[in-house]
Amino acid sequence: MRQDSLTQPPQPLQLVLFRDDLRTLDHPALLAAREAGPTVAVFVFDEQSEGIRPLGAAARWWLHHALASLRDSLHELGIPLILRRGATAEIVAELSRECSPQAIRWNRRYGQAERAVDAQLKAALHGAGIDAHSYAGFLLHEPWELLTKNQTGFKVFTPFYNALRNAEIRPPLPRPSAQDPLDASGVRSDRLESWNLLPTSPDWSGGLRDTWTPGEPAARQRLADVLESIAGHYVDHHDRPDLDGTSALSPSLRWGHLSAHQVWDELSRHAAHSPAAAEGATALRRQIAWRDFCWHLYYHHPQLPTQNLRPEFDDFNWSGPTDSPEAADLVGGWQRGRTGFALVDAGMAQLWQTGWMHNRVRMVTASLLVKNLAIHWRVGEQWFWDTLVDADIASNTANWQWVAGCGADAAPYFRIFNPELQAKKFDPQGSYVARYAPLAIEPLVDLRQSRIQALESYNHMKSRQHS
Ligand code: FAD
Repeated sequence: MRQDSLTQPPQPLQLVLFRDDLRTLDHPALLAAREAGPTVAVFVFDEQSEGIRPLGAAARWWLHHALASLRDSLHELGIPLILRRGATAEIVAELSRECSPQAIRWNRRYGQAERAVDAQLKAALHGAGIDAHSYAGFLLHEPWELLTKNQTGFKVFTPFYNALRNAEIRPPLPRPSAQDPLDASGVRSDRLESWNLLPTSPDWSGGLRDTWTPGEPAARQRLADVLESIAGHYVDHHDRPDLDGTSALSPSLRWGHLSAHQVWDELSRHAAHSPAAAEGATALRRQIAWRDFCWHLYYHHPQLPTQNLRPEFDDFNWSGPTDSPEAADLVGGWQRGRTGFALVDAGMAQLWQTGWMHNRVRMVTASLLVKNLAIHWRVGEQWFWDTLVDADIASNTANWQWVAGCGADAAPYFRIFNPELQAKKFDPQGSYVARYAPLAIEPLVDLRQSRIQALESYNHMKSRQHS
């Protein structure tokens, strides 16, 4: 940072690192920084630190627009946003040399690799005489705060949820006060466009653009709309992909345009309006708790993205796309929405076009892949990771393991969704299918036969363990 060209603040400079918390309200690190003095915001696009999983294509699209929106929101507060690309430790060291901040603050992350990066960063900053402070901003409760009687992490949702509700959930924090605009024009900042987060040749993002407006203002508007017209019907409508019956807040929570605290708090206040509002708010809060639970699991089981939580499933004979031409065809057919099962194909088309899929359909598409097509859940997880705008490492991997039967609190393996019955029940007029997969094609597998095979494979796995 060229100090000569930065309008010198009267007090020492405060830096805030933004990561999965692209908002200005209920942002503990930002609020603390502003209370301490003039603040500069930094976003480091880090694909280099060891173990950090690169973003998928849909997530990169979201990030581009979310950063543009954050820059505008921070600008209103007089706070410049510096963009840099590289390993977090190196970039922060550079910035520290360049602008001699008094303190650097951030909200915590909970993945193993991210925690390692942040712990090293804190140690290095302390070593250099710079204050480093981390805050809780992403989850309702820190994963080490809620423990079983045996002082271990929870593996089952219901006791976790009871513990979560019994512990105090703090109210959201206010937006920080604006500062005299800090002129950071002399501070080197990458051009957002130079990160090439948006797809070109071809630009496949038209459906995403038509569906979403990334950023805090649009997320707050959607939350207001959810309270106004979704929450009251949530209990009846949440399983219906043909209706606008769920919050569609998952990308906003993933990118932190809204915090879980804000959503929880607003739902709690909304619950006072009427019995229907209370019922809907309670059901939605329970889903928010599922998000916390997935992160809780991931924190206590950092191998969640790569290993079956139930090791007996290591013997299961799932295939991958490189195992045989047949398996490659099955994976390709599933990814392109050409399985011949209308609800599955509609879901995969919705995912491809909009970067999002309804939860019920996520379960059905995932079940078809791992059970009827006998493909490893990690193959599906990776496809979702690349195509979802809400791709979240904990929620994605925990839910895939849940559907596959190898997760902690998983659906029993023998619960194999029948996509035709699911379509009749949850898309009764066929309007979801008509919208996304209007053309019928021949099924890739025989449902009955593949179900029998899946159960045989499961029994085989069990018998090998007992022999
Ligand atoms: P709502 O029903 O309105 O729920 C409100 C919020 O609660 C959601 O925005 C989300 O943050 C949280 N939530 C709801 N259900 C779950 C759940 N089962 N697990 C964790 N959090 C939940 N969700 C993601 O955010 N990212 C993912 O990458 C992801 N991958 C999934 C993969 C599979 C195979 C399955 C079955 C589910 C996955 N989910 C994932 C969970 C769920 O499908 C989505 O959170 C939900 O569909 C988002 O829609 P919504 O915001 O309208 O949800």
